[in-house]
Amino acid sequence: MKDLLVMKFGGTSMGSADRIRAAASLAAGRPEKRPTVVVVSAMSKVTDLLLETLDHAEHGRPEVESNLRKLHQRHFDACEQLLPVSRRATTFGAIESLIAEFRRIAHGILMLGEKPPKSVDEAVAIGERLSARLLAAYLETQGIAATDISGSEVIVTDANFGGAEPLLAPTRERAREKILPLLESGILPIVTGFNGATMDGRPTTLGRGGSDFSASILAAVLDASEVWIWSDVDGIMTADPRLVNDAAVLDEVTYSEAAELAYAGAKVLHPRTLAPLAEKQIPVWSKNSFSPEKPGTKIVARANTWRGPRAVTSMANVALVSLEPAAASVNGTEIMGRALDALARAKAEVLAFSSSSYRQSFCFLIRKDELPAAMECLQASLALELAHGYVHPMDVDTDVGLLAIVGEGMRGTPGLAGRIFTAISRENINIIAIAQGSSELTISIAVARSGLEKAVQAVHAECELGKQGMALAGYPLRVPGG
Ligand code: ADP
Ligand code: ASP
Ligand code: MG
Repeated sequence: MKDLLVMKFGGTSMGSADRIRAAASLAAGRPEKRPTVVVVSAMSKVTDLLLETLDHAEHGRPEVESNLRKLHQRHFDACEQLLPVSRRATTFGAIESLIAEFRRIAHGILMLGEKPPKSVDEAVAIGERLSARLLAAYLETQGIAATDISGSEVIVTDANFGGAEPLLAPTRERAREKILPLLESGILPIVTGFNGATMDGRPTTLGRGGSDFSASILAAVLDASEVWIWSDVDGIMTADPRLVNDAAVLDEVTYSEAAELAYAGAKVLHPRTLAPLAEKQIPVWSKNSFSPEKPGTKIVARANTWRGPRAVTSMANVALVSLEPAAASVNGTEIMGRALDALARAKAEVLAFSSSSYRQSFCFLIRKDELPAAMECLQASLALELAHGYVHPMDVDTDVGLLAIVGEGMRGTPGLAGRIFTAISRENINIIAIAQGSSELTISIAVARSGLEKAVQAVHAECELGKQGMALAGYPLRVPGG
């Protein structure tokens, strides 16, 4: 379909009756009636509430019932504020039956005393099904034909519950079959983000924050011409605005820069969002649903030039694992290979890897929640060497944070690393490990957890990242600090 636009509304953009009204007008109130597919997140904090409820259920805690009441209240209130009395009954009924479905799963978990990942995915998908229902019902009252579709009907995934991988060929078939006829008949499809299903129909989710990914998967398989991600910030910024006061909005970034930032903790985009789009060069806009008149950030294959880094981001919930061969007879490269293989088996993502010294010691950073599975696989893989003392016992430091400085303009900029390290040291923050790939797109630095925020601020100031907005608005481009 020509000129197709996929729009995704995040949790805050769907977080109340007022926000749902605003989303409806952004999706359907534009004069140039472009064919549009809408993808929605659950109302803000609802996914957290659902997960917390399942946790209470697993441990047999009484909070299950009070959480269910909160869930009910939140969606009933929104429904009441959105719909005229005469139109409420059907939507109240739909909300009731979705919450009943969730209650049934939660009670199953309570009886069982455990939380099978498959049941969690089925249960947690209900957050998006509730918000999609509300938006579709509201649009109908505005005279706009809209229908809510579960992501499980259109996004086919593998069976990796909690972080499923989309299977693009069957997704393409199902999504086109289901969505294109709706668009042709002028009906606005509202697809639930975050969820999909296996080929044989078992519900899955794409990982926390995965609605961005849902939008990009659908855009790729429907051959959309653009994706707009509506959030609560003016676009991709030079740093998380919650940490840095003078963070500036970037007008353009490349797919590679945005993907690096997302992987390194910039929550504004789910890390896997850009892969399906970069291949087809489908442009993405990151925009603020609270200030839709602002241009936002455009993510494209090639962006305007800025010498030096574009942005700095950080991750707090990480762990640093260090390994060191204990005997000269041990082949360090082989130990590294086995360790990486173990991490792949544990499905732990290596956020940074660094190796130095003739003894071939090395360390890597992974997410804290992936640590137990990673350690189990590492221990199993290196059991003999550890038992015979050929490798020192693994050292795990969970009191660290990871900082990433990202930008295509860092390539071939001498002196940058030195300035960044000096800026961090000036704050008396100890640098624990450093990694920079030869692409020079990202410099990753592990520091003590307590110094993480200060380090972000120090790098942002040193590299004058906040000045980019001004430079791009007409000031001469300058080499930061130069
Ligand atoms: P949504 O619910 O719309 O998906 P998220 O909460 O997932 O929104 O992402 C938006 C948040 O990401 C912002 O409120 C902001 O605090 C955070 N964020 C972190 N790093 C950045 C960055 N570099 N640029 C913009 N926002 C960022
Ligand atoms: N609702 C899901 C979450 O909170 C997905 C999303 O919002 O993108 O993780
Ligand atoms: Mg998000």
